[in-house]
Amino acid sequence: HAAKLADGSVCRWTPALDERSTAYARIGAELRTALDTGQFRMVYQPIVELPSGRTRAVEALVRWEHPARGVVSPAEFIPVAEQNGLIVELGAWILETACARLAAWRRELGDAAPARVSVNVSAKQLARPGFAALVARVLADTGLPASCLVVEVTETAVFEGGPAVTTLHELRALGAWIALDDFGTGHSSLGLLQTVPVNTIKVDKSFVDNITSAGRQTVIAEALIRLADGLGLAAVAEGVETAEQADALYRLGYRYLQGYHYGRPAAELDFGRMPAVA
Ligand code: C2E
Ligand code: MG
Ligand code: MG
Ligand code: MG
Repeated sequence: HAAKLADGSVCRWTPALDERSTAYARIGAELRTALDTGQFRMVYQPIVELPSGRTRAVEALVRWEHPARGVVSPAEFIPVAEQNGLIVELGAWILETACARLAAWRRELGDAAPARVSVNVSAKQLARPGFAALVARVLADTGLPASCLVVEVTETAVFEGGPAVTTLHELRALGAWIALDDFGTGHSSLGLLQTVPVNTIKVDKSFVDNITSAGRQTVIAEALIRLADGLGLAAVAEGVETAEQADALYRLGYRYLQGYHYGRPAAELDFGRMPAVA
């Protein structure tokens, strides 16, 4: 096949695209069964506060344990679930599971438990009327205070003035926090800070990768922490893989770091102190 694109050019339907759409269809069909038979589970990654090294928050990340293919990445199936609508049901399960987990940690560990759990929410979920009501119900059912929940949204999921923004205002009114995920990679990062009720920016891994060499990324990372400080927002640096990166970020002013250096996402976490910087 060939498809005519908006600019008049012709796109040939390549085998790679065919393979991709076949995979989409297969995954889509399997997601329903996966949800019904309990093949999803949640893992949690520490967000560490410096200089104490305490795990102040955790990010909840979903995993699919496929009976034949093993663990499937959310990067592979979340887009499919968004497309076929199953994200609504899957997303509700994710929210419930993550809130129940933090509520349980709070009961077991008291002050040693992380203060917040961060849950990724997709554009489709956010744009549906009733999402804030779902969050309110889940908080009531699990007994988790609203201020312990952070809703993580990507910049691309939030269009200025769209229904997603209305939902974010409702979530703030409940007392939940809002974090902008992968901050700096969208096309209107700064514009969104004017219109969206944000508490936290999560500075994308792409600005952290080369933070130890004096290049453009370092300049951007420094500008972003100043911006966050100036606006009274928290900033989390994502994808911190080495002690050198952690050290450089700390010197720029970052106080919340997340990445493999501190811990990979896992089903169980040890909330003992992590090595502090310097
Ligand atoms: P994200 O929300 O930006 O999550 C961070 C991703 O980076 C996670 O991948 C995490 O495992 C990975 N990561 C964390 N630290 C490091 C590091 O130091 N180095 C490297 N190379 N990677 C690191 P994961 O779990 O595969 O998730 C990928 C994306 O899938 C997430 O990006 C998020 O957009 C989406 N996702 C994951 N879980 C959920 C969920 O429960 N609901 C929704 N709607 N989306 C989810
Ligand atoms: Mg996230
Ligand atoms: Mg992220
Ligand atoms: Mg990301």
